Amino acid sequence: MRAVVMYAPGDVRVEERDDPTIIEPTDAIIRLAASCICGSDLWPYRGDDAVDHTPMGHEYVGVVTEIGDQVKDVKVGDFVVGSFFASDNTCEICQAGYQSRCIHAYPMGVIGTQSEYARIPMADGTLVATPGMPDAELIPSLLAASDVLGTGWFAAVAAEAGPGKTVAVVGDGAVGLLGILAAKHLGAERIIAMSRHADRQALAREFGATDIVEERGDEGVAKIKELTGGYGAHSVIEAVGTQESMMQAIRATRAGGHVGYVGVSHDVALDGLELFFSGVHLHGGPAPVRRFLPELIQLIWDRRIDPGKVFDLSLPLEEAAEGYRAMDERRATKVLLTV
Ligand SMILES: [Zn+2]
Repeated sequence: MRAVVMYAPGDVRVEERDDPTIIEPTDAIIRLAASCICGSDLWPYRGDDAVDHTPMGHEYVGVVTEIGDQVKDVKVGDFVVGSFFASDNTCEICQAGYQSRCIHAYPMGVIGTQSEYARIPMADGTLVATPGMPDAELIPSLLAASDVLGTGWFAAVAAEAGPGKTVAVVGDGAVGLLGILAAKHLGAERIIAMSRHADRQALAREFGATDIVEERGDEGVAKIKELTGGYGAHSVIEAVGTQESMMQAIRATRAGGHVGYVGVSHDVALDGLELFFSGVHLHGGPAPVRRFLPELIQLIWDRRIDPGKVFDLSLPLEEAAEGYRAMDERRATKVLLTV
């Protein structure tokens, strides 16, 4: 099969790899309907994470082509969506809704899903079947559910977005934008998007943002305070993962408010005393996308949400290198790879 491999930072190639096979009796094999490039794939691309001939990709949707002997719920021919962490969905952590931290959690990025086929561990716990074969136009939205939508959703839930709340969103990548969509769906009264890019501001407004703040850092915090009568937002979504974005999120939150942080943390260090006096709740981490998949799939199926709009460039898998370049240069928010 054809698959994306990152040889080194900035060096993305598409090459022939062995087709995956069933290894554990709980595995399934899927043929991908589409794959995509994640904002987090830019960390190794830019040399911020180690990379060496690494298979890439952790988002996936597709049709089950083979199952192991112990797979009971997933059937060959099912169209399925899964999270970027495989999980058993039975342990106490999974039962509590934190499948990305399952005691048997397996990161799909190790397998790599920017490919024609993929092995899915713990298929029954990981995969959720759609009600039927989706129309082609639904595939981008279902693919978004695999990571960016589920992550934005978790961030909004962790930040306790809801009726009567003012929600601020730090980060205008796909996750931040879908955090806006989630906050809107959860009933937030006011949603402030922090973005300085016209095209992303437009999509933010389409997804439900009521205000745009272009300032960053402490200037952005001052602007949020100004918009909220000096209090700060009730709920803040952090969808970047840098020191600046994390402090922007914490400082933009009013005392007693909630920060939902889902940007993959890179060298973030928190000052204990500042945290102590902030009086805010911090909750986040790798999103337990599996918790939300049944609900998100149904919302997409019923055409009540259209998260696939975050894909603003679609390329064949063979042209993955151009997709990485486009995202790195911010010419694209999120790239879909057709297979
Ligand atoms: Zn588990």
